[in-house]
Amino acid sequence: MTCDVCGKKHARTRKVARTYGKGKQLIVIENVPVVTCPDCGESYVSADTLHAIKRIRMQRKRIAHHRSVAVAQFGKAVA
Ligand SMILES: [Zn+2]
Repeated sequence: MTCDVCGKKHARTRKVARTYGKGKQLIVIENVPVVTCPDCGESYVSADTLHAIKRIRMQRKRIAHHRSVAVAQFGKAVA
């Protein structure tokens, strides 16, 4: 697919888990399609994806499944 940033055609979509918010508002959204481009090194989500994420976050009480997850804080354990 075409990269929105540099316009070259080697961009790929990867499905990744992303975390949004913090504390009680924390939500982990799995299978978020993130576009990564090997030519310019950008990774980004499309406007449609951002919109969907916003909707998921607004509806989190209704649609989210509660699971226990281990949440590590990057940097805290590094001496
Ligand atoms: Zn690019």
